[in-house]
Amino acid sequence: MRSKKDRWGLAIFLLSPLMIGSPLLGSSRISPDLFSNILIAVPYAGTGLSVFCLFLGHFSYPRVHNLKVYLHCYLAALLGLILFVPFFPGITKEPSPFLIAALSQLNLLLITLLPSYAKYRTTKLVTWIFVTCEICFMVFVMFQILPIPGTLPRGQPNTLTWTLVYWPILILVLSFLLMRREFHLGGIITGCSYFYAVIILVLMGRIPKPQLIPLLFMAALLYLIAGIVVHWFSRTEHRVSYDPLLQIYNRNYCSRIIEEQSRLNTTPPFGVAMIDIDHFKKVNDTWGHQAGDSVLISVAQTIQKEVVPDGILCRYGGEELAVFFPKMETHEIHPLIENVRSSVEALKIHIGKRKSISVTVSCGVAHRASTSQSIVTVIQAADKALYRAKESGRNQVISARR
Ligand code: GH3
Ligand code: MG
Ligand code: MG
Repeated sequence: MRSKKDRWGLAIFLLSPLMIGSPLLGSSRISPDLFSNILIAVPYAGTGLSVFCLFLGHFSYPRVHNLKVYLHCYLAALLGLILFVPFFPGITKEPSPFLIAALSQLNLLLITLLPSYAKYRTTKLVTWIFVTCEICFMVFVMFQILPIPGTLPRGQPNTLTWTLVYWPILILVLSFLLMRREFHLGGIITGCSYFYAVIILVLMGRIPKPQLIPLLFMAALLYLIAGIVVHWFSRTEHRVSYDPLLQIYNRNYCSRIIEEQSRLNTTPPFGVAMIDIDHFKKVNDTWGHQAGDSVLISVAQTIQKEVVPDGILCRYGGEELAVFFPKMETHEIHPLIENVRSSVEALKIHIGKRKSISVTVSCGVAHRASTSQSIVTVIQAADKALYRAKESGRNQVISARR
């Protein structure tokens, strides 16, 4: 699942150079008249997108999205409105696009560093604090209460240019390190950072087309919305096939694999391992259900680390886990599962400050050698081997008889 999420993240991220490049390239290819006509519509489209972004973040939280998305949508929409509304006729106070772009970059760093999941009230409170601070900041700058220069002198020293290059890289690295479980969000955040870096380069005169600034801001909002919609779809798909407690695939996904394999009429081997925690009822009875859950999570994560990338780990039911090994036979799987068994045996799960629990697992292994054998029979064979492992004293791996 992680690699699938990484692919989503990479796809979203790769959309950003494409969306940054299109206005840059388009502005030099299309006629100046048509370009200026397009630019007239940009503040209205930008305002519309800002409002849409606000609604998207507001109404998708908390069912679909988390703190990062909620805060990102609010801050991006706020800065979008501050940038685009002054373009409307009759408004004279103009904010500095440089401050908006720089503030957007700082926001991205903040969003990367904040946790994804927070309590409902905390999320709202954090968001309102930052929105209020940024509104006050912009008002102070606009009315020159804060003596911050509104525009950038052309041809700034190289340090600023380098900061702009390093900033998105910093965000990329941080999002990769901190958002391993949801790297597609990291992709959106890093992509946005590239938008703001390019906007600042335009402002500095490194890209000599200042008219592009509102267009690039609008494209950044469009990019953010597209990324969030993709994130929404991938999360929905994720929910259908993922176990939220153990952070592995669920029974639903198991059934999908079984169905897919049953439809194949070629004959690659297909290995299955069934794993069950020994005396798990005792863990629940002795330490409580919550401690039982912690044990289950630690065991699942330990198994996950051992079997990736060869195997696909699913929660088959309760505390019984299944690992599917495409293109692998029993004799190849057995040593891998033996490693799983010994890693679980060595595991110490800390409950509270002083106590720790250890558990063992019993495992049964089998494989499908020909298409005449149904995948359900292979699972049954692995289950029988697991039963024999339990019968012969637990904490062992047994391969199915052929
Ligand atoms: P054995 O060695 O024969 O497997 O003994 P066992 O006690 O582990 O027996 P069994 O596999 O039948 O036990 C299943 C237990 O797992 C019963 C159920 O209470 C517990 N269980 C199933 N799902 C969960 C869960 O999500 N959380 C917790 N805490 N317990 C669970
Ligand atoms: Mg058990
Ligand atoms: Mg069981």
